[in-house]
Amino acid sequence: MTARIAIVGGGPGGVTLARILHQNGREVAVLERESSFVYRPQGGSLDIHADSGQIALAKAGLTAEFQRIARHQDQQMRLYDKEGTLRLLDESSEGERPEVDRGHLRQMLLDSLPQDVVRWNQHVTSVEAQQDGTCDVIFAGGHRERYDLVVGADGTWSKVRPAVSPAQPEYSGIVFVELGIHNVDRRHPAIAKLVGHGMTFSLGDSMGLMMHRDANAHIGFYAAFHGPVDIYAGKSEAEIRAELMKKFSGWAGNLTSLIAESDEVVGVRGIYWLPPGHRWKHVPGVTLLGDAAHVMSPFGGDGANFALQDAGELAEVLLQKDWRQQLPIFEEAMAARCERPAAAANAAILKAFSPDGFTHSFHMMQQLIPKARAFPAKS
Ligand SMILES: Cc1cc2nc3c(=O)[nH]c(=O)nc-3n(C[C@H](O)[C@H](O)[C@H](O)COP(=O)(O)OP(=O)(O)OC[C@H]3O[C@@H](n4cnc5c(N)ncnc54)[C@H](O)[C@@H]3O)c2cc1C
Repeated sequence: MTARIAIVGGGPGGVTLARILHQNGREVAVLERESSFVYRPQGGSLDIHADSGQIALAKAGLTAEFQRIARHQDQQMRLYDKEGTLRLLDESSEGERPEVDRGHLRQMLLDSLPQDVVRWNQHVTSVEAQQDGTCDVIFAGGHRERYDLVVGADGTWSKVRPAVSPAQPEYSGIVFVELGIHNVDRRHPAIAKLVGHGMTFSLGDSMGLMMHRDANAHIGFYAAFHGPVDIYAGKSEAEIRAELMKKFSGWAGNLTSLIAESDEVVGVRGIYWLPPGHRWKHVPGVTLLGDAAHVMSPFGGDGANFALQDAGELAEVLLQKDWRQQLPIFEEAMAARCERPAAAANAAILKAFSPDGFTHSFHMMQQLIPKARAFPAKS
């Protein structure tokens, strides 16, 4: 008899795991709280790394599909100071980390599964491991379903994690306000030129603007600073834009023009993390992957890539006869693999949002991308 497997959460990690298991003839259900794929804007671009995310997509048999949506041309990097002067530039687009829109990635993964594998509108409130090694999933409304294994792929605020670990995500104190500009080439050519094709940063005053070019001439960007996560609760888009303009009032006009010209406030995202190297004593019938296991600062660009990699490695375990014995080994390997990158990413964001954040990030990016050209500050 094959194992009955439930994956809680249909983000990149959960759906990749479902795809690999399904492709190998396993029955699997993805239980997703959202009502549909279009329930919320999916957010901007992610770079998918050759040594992690792309390996998982290859295991899922989706390399060709991925290459169709990957934007190799969007791998440039720019760093501006708050005076609006370009200080570092890598225009090469030669890396192994092509960009992809989050929405395109999720759509590709969902399209690779029969429609009934992802069950929408399934709000899981908790799970309960049973004495016999199975696990119950409890849904809002109170009904339960029993599985041989429940995988928590339900992100930062996982409802599965409490069954294995008391750890709670800690707030970094840094909030990212996500905004967007449509049709930038035609409507705002100066902004299109400033952002270029890839990731663009501007740091200063313990704050930052982080911009990226998405598909279809869309610019997504974050205005980020220290503050409470509910800072703009109840405010309209116009009010948020006005408050951001005030906050960044000492910054050059070419940078603040992004805020002024933005078409949408996509969301306000607090940056949280679990302790790097988060581990737990294995509980039969339950495991975790992705942000549920190791949410970290986005400053390493690893979160979604690690979620995909976890999915690929867990799928390989679950395809073995002795998967129950192998699960603790998978969990330890995942914790060990993520520990140092998570600690480094958490430290990097705190440094970047410190008073000498620009100088620190300038030197760090020079080390990471030695071929980037450096330019002097305007005197
Ligand atoms: C501002 C910001 C920028 C980032 N930039 C990058 C980047 O450039 N590169 C990168 O690799 N990573 C980046 N990340 C991290 C990345 O977004 C996450 O690491 C990644 O989405 C984790 O994938 P996941 O599948 O584990 O979880 P998620 O993407 O969080 O998916 C979890 C899913 O579970 C569902 N769910 C949640 N609770 C329940 C419930 N109770 N019942 C049922 N379903 C539930 C959710 O609706 C969601 O669909 C960034 C994160 C932030 C905040």
